[in-house]
Amino acid sequence: MTIQNITVLGSTGSIGGSTLDVVAMHPERYQVYALAANSQVDKLFAQCQQFQPAFAVLVDVTAAAQLRNRLAAAGSRTEVLHGAAALETVSTAAEVDMVMAAIVGAAGLRPTIAAALAGKRILLANKESLVVAGEQFMQAVRRGGAELLPVDSEHNALFQSLPAGFAGDHVAAGIEELILTASGGPFRQHSLQQLQQVTAEDACRHPNWVMGRKISVDSASLMNKGLEVIEAHWLFATPAERIKVVVHPQSVIHSMVRYQDGSVIAQLGTPDMRTPIAYAMAWPQRITAPVAPLDFMALSGLTFEQPDLQRFPCLRLAFDCLRTGGDASAVLNAANEIAVAAFLDGRIAFLQIPQLIERALAQAELAASGDLDSLLEKDAMVRSLVQGWIA
Ligand code: NAD
Ligand code: MG
Repeated sequence: MTIQNITVLGSTGSIGGSTLDVVAMHPERYQVYALAANSQVDKLFAQCQQFQPAFAVLVDVTAAAQLRNRLAAAGSRTEVLHGAAALETVSTAAEVDMVMAAIVGAAGLRPTIAAALAGKRILLANKESLVVAGEQFMQAVRRGGAELLPVDSEHNALFQSLPAGFAGDHVAAGIEELILTASGGPFRQHSLQQLQQVTAEDACRHPNWVMGRKISVDSASLMNKGLEVIEAHWLFATPAERIKVVVHPQSVIHSMVRYQDGSVIAQLGTPDMRTPIAYAMAWPQRITAPVAPLDFMALSGLTFEQPDLQRFPCLRLAFDCLRTGGDASAVLNAANEIAVAAFLDGRIAFLQIPQLIERALAQAELAASGDLDSLLEKDAMVRSLVQGWIA
C-alpha cells in the first residue's frame, strides 16, 4: 500500500501524543506531513526532530519564531508556519491524506471544517466542533466527500457496534438506542457539599484516563458526557430520545448499541485512546496498537449506575440544548469553555460551572443556527458575556 500522509492538529496534547505513538509503530504505513499546536515550543521541537514533518505550525507568533530558530540550528528541513490560518493550510494541502483533529475546544472548528471541505479523512477527537456547528460540519463532510472517523472512545465504540455503512435510518437497521458509557469521573461519589470544595487538581485526577486539563474538568462535571451526547446525535443522526447515558466506572465497555431483537452490541478494551486512534487511522483494516490487552481475570466486575442529574446538572443542560437546537449547543460550549478555564485558574468554584452555563443560556437570546460565521460570532459574544460575569 502507499504511505499515508497525516497532519496532526494539537500534536503536543494528550491525543496528539497518542496519535504519534501509533504513527511511530507503523512507519511503513504513515508519515507525518505537519504537526500543529498552540504555543509549546519544547515539545513540538522534540516531535519535529523525531518525525521530521514537512511543516510545523504554532499559532503563537513568538513561539513559532523560537521553534524556527531552534530547528534551523539543528539542521532540520521542517518549515515553520504561524497563525491560526496556517492550521487550515496544513489541513487542506494536496499531499495530506488524513487529519487528526485534536485541538481542544472551538479553536479546532475552522481547520477541521477546512479538512472536511478538502475531502480528507478526518480522525475526529475535537468533539467541540460538532457541538458548536454540528449541522455545518456534517454538511462540509458531505460536500467535500470527506471520511469522518470518530476517535472519541464512546463514538468509536458505537461506530464499531453499528451496522457497516449505517447512514442514520435507525428503524430500518432495527436500532432501539445508543448507550453511551460514562466513567462518572473523579467525583462520582461526592456529595453536593463535597463538590463545593473540589479543586482543579482534584478534577484533573481522573480514575481511568490521563487527558488534557479541559476535558478532565468536563469529565468531572459530566459535561464531557453531555458534549458526547450532542456529538453522537450529529455523527449518527440519532435523535436525543434514542441516546442514553449509563455510568460504568471501570471504563471497559466503551459504549453499546441496543437492537430491537434484544441484542446489545458493545466494544470493550483497555481504556487507552491509542485503540480508537489506530482503528480510525487504519479503517476498514486493523493494525497493531501499543495497548495492553484486556485482561478479564483482572476485572473484578463491571458495574452500572444511573447518572445523577442533581449533582451533575451539566449533563441535563446538554440534553436540553440538543432538544432546543439552533445555536443553543454553541452557547453551552462557549460558556463551558470560559467557565472551565476560570475554574482551572482557581477563579471560580466547581459548582459555578453549571450556574454560569445556565445563566448564559438564559441570556444569550438563542436563535436558529445560521451559518458558520454567525455561530462563531455567537461563540465570541457568549465568551465575553461570561468573562464579564466572572471578572
Ligand atoms: P490537550 O489539552 O492535552 O491538548 C490540546 C492540544 O490543542 C495541544 O496540542 C494544544 O497546543 C492545542 N491547542 C490548544 N488551543 C489551541 C489553539 N487555539 N490553536 C491551536 N492549537 C491549540 O487536550 P486533549 O486531551 O488531547 O484533547 C484534545 C481534544 O480531544 C479535545 O477536544 C478533547 O475533548 C478530545 N478528546 C480527548 C480525549 C483524551 O483522552 N485526552 C478523549 C476523547 C476526546
Ligand atoms: Mg469520550
